[in-house]
Amino acid sequence: MGAAIRHFTATGPGGQVFTVNIERDFRYDPYRDFLVCAHCDWSPSLLTTRKIIDMAGEHLATAHGADRGLAQQENESFRKARWVMLPLCAVLVIGLLAYYAQS
Ligand SMILES: [Zn+2]
Repeated sequence: MGAAIRHFTATGPGGQVFTVNIERDFRYDPYRDFLVCAHCDWSPSLLTTRKIIDMAGEHLATAHGADRGLAQQENESFRKARWVMLPLCAVLVIGLLAYYAQS
């Protein structure tokens, strides 16, 4: 459904890596982000003042015993997409300004 834009990972007993994802759902306007565990159906509300990484880390530790090496990383393809979009938007804005400057 949504696109995973960020991953939180932690290592549990036996070296297994557990993952919690932030999924962005673009069907909403503005988009909405959801916190989703990849190993159970835990999906808390993000309407909270708590830091998301704290929530993710706490869930990984308490529900899956993964309390070591908590880390977060951005989704690789999403990061690339942003780097492509940024110059594209800049070119578009400059083009528009040049257009209006002429008329
Ligand atoms: Zn879980």
